[in-house]
Amino acid sequence: MTQNKEMKVAIIGGGVAGSTTALYLGQMGIACTLFEQEKSLVTGPPFCHLHAGGNLYREISDAQCVTLLKQSIDFLRYYPFIVDYRPTVIAIPTEDKGEPADLLPRLKLLVEEYKAHIAKDPANEVLGKPNDYYRIYEREALESLKEKQIVPQPETFDEWMIPVAKQIDFEKVKFPLILVQEYGLNLFRLAAGVSLALEQIGCVDLKLETKVTDVKHQGEQWHVTFEQNGQSGSGIFDYLVNAAGFRTGRIDDMVGVPCQSMVEFKAAYVSKWESCCEGLWPEVIFHGERGTPRGMGQFTPYPEGYFQLHGMTKEITLYEDGLVANTKISCQPQLKPEFIEKIESAWRTEEVEERTRNAIKHLAKYIPHFCEAKVGSKPLFGAQQIPGSDPTLRVAEVSFPDRCYARCEIVKVSSVLDMVDAILRDLHKKGLLPAAQKQRNYAYMDTLDEATLSPLAEKIATQRAYPSALARRSVTRQVENR
Ligand SMILES: Cc1cc2nc3c(=O)[nH]c(=O)nc-3n(C[C@H](O)[C@H](O)[C@H](O)COP(=O)(O)OP(=O)(O)OC[C@H]3O[C@@H](n4cnc5c(N)ncnc54)[C@H](O)[C@@H]3O)c2cc1C
Repeated sequence: MTQNKEMKVAIIGGGVAGSTTALYLGQMGIACTLFEQEKSLVTGPPFCHLHAGGNLYREISDAQCVTLLKQSIDFLRYYPFIVDYRPTVIAIPTEDKGEPADLLPRLKLLVEEYKAHIAKDPANEVLGKPNDYYRIYEREALESLKEKQIVPQPETFDEWMIPVAKQIDFEKVKFPLILVQEYGLNLFRLAAGVSLALEQIGCVDLKLETKVTDVKHQGEQWHVTFEQNGQSGSGIFDYLVNAAGFRTGRIDDMVGVPCQSMVEFKAAYVSKWESCCEGLWPEVIFHGERGTPRGMGQFTPYPEGYFQLHGMTKEITLYEDGLVANTKISCQPQLKPEFIEKIESAWRTEEVEERTRNAIKHLAKYIPHFCEAKVGSKPLFGAQQIPGSDPTLRVAEVSFPDRCYARCEIVKVSSVLDMVDAILRDLHKKGLLPAAQKQRNYAYMDTLDEATLSPLAEKIATQRAYPSALARRSVTRQVENR
């Protein structure tokens, strides 16, 4: 491994963006210090869905969907151990203005894009065969699947559709339903995996429970001040990566750069459906107009009958005043204290109960027996940064508003590898790295041992007061012969 002893990189924030930067640069032998104010890595907003084609978002452009597909393939190859290989089913509610046929041109475009990625590199075939990227289910096919026995470990698309056919109210959705190869992601396994991987990289100095309190230019370099265990410390670095998530604006303010960004507080709810546990579910999406009472419903399965729920209404996932923009005075968009309190301390029990019940009711409109579900745990929640002024933006990576300063601004976790590649290009441009550096190393996975990783992921989930089942996957490998 090449050691770039003369160059030192400071990375502020150990979420997906900062941890991946440290892992990627560390694998290249670049000396990095990763500052994270929390006790462990990847404690920020949650993620459960690999947006491999952006099919959850009808409102975004084809260009964003094509980029999400490409970035998801890269992300899946880099972090295969966090992927739950169960498909997603897209349904259009009867009450919705849209039609299933409206989704088909984009799906066809995505199949062609996927083929092109495989032609470029056969290792990109990580979402199954391109012609199986999506499949259409008309009502007659679902009526016949409804009569079939549940298969405990589904291996074909039809087997995945059996629970959907048995449980969905056919009068509440338009046909066909569409099954697509968008898989699940497990955030606890990512937290465990990056922690284990970073421990093994000598040139990464991981500083947990360390808050960066100031950054200043010092000649061509950066002077970074931090607090750890009540003590103040500082260091000099050649390059600064701001991966502070929704607090990116605070670092921008210290640096003094132009900015335009938003922050949105959102939450997903954890339910337990005891009587459903026969067989595995795909994820199911019920499209809807964001911000209205009919906002999109997202039904995300975990082992042991846990389901994570999103409902894009103000009574469930979204909040009145939950979306804020920065001002001329500060780059940091100011969330109301009630949101900061949720992020930094706790939720009121009554609110957890109320919002989870709202979410169960929202999904039970389409899956009637789901009304039996109960609150499963505290919600998964957080504030998401969105650069610019378009709140529907779903693809963003990084910008370089000052010399040797990278401001990470991912909206979806799959954007991180393009983000680090852009940082590498900037390092070359600034003359801090020779051009011929070895890049993306997928082989680091060989150093991760499942027997260590799974218990650590479950421990992280329970330490954060979530059921250990949320740290497990239902399908751990891609199943052939669908
Ligand atoms: C409800 C919800 C559901 C979501 N679902 C999905 C999904 O299904 N799929 C998907 O791809 N994306 C999803 N997202 C988006 C995804 O969670 C974010 O894009 C991603 O987690 C952002 O990662 P990050 O590393 O940029 O930020 P963060 O995870 O917020 O990391 C920033 C880190 O910086 C640390 N930090 C901040 N300031 C300092 C400082 N001064 N010193 C030291 N440390 C500091 C923080 O403690 C934090 O750990 C969802 C978001 C929400 C809110």
